Amino acid sequence: MFPVLQDFDRIRVERFKQATEEKLRDVRCPEHNQAPRLRFQGESLREISISLTGCCDKVMQLANARIGSSWLGAAESTKAS
Ligand SMILES: [Zn+2]
Repeated sequence: MFPVLQDFDRIRVERFKQATEEKLRDVRCPEHNQAPRLRFQGESLREISISLTGCCDKVMQLANARIGSSWLGAAESTKAS
């Protein structure tokens, strides 16, 4: 594989991470006032996965609703390329 393509993929992964973090920036649990924690695993958009942890189900639902659209968007653009 060409290094250029790997770099391109890395840039897309970084953009995806930033976009996801951006969406969760103002998410707080209404009960505990805690922000959810976000972790990414994988180095390319094909293998990347998000793991979310939070204080309770409420904040997890809020976080999932927020990142749902960006997650689907990334998956679609991966298929298209
Ligand atoms: Zn909570």
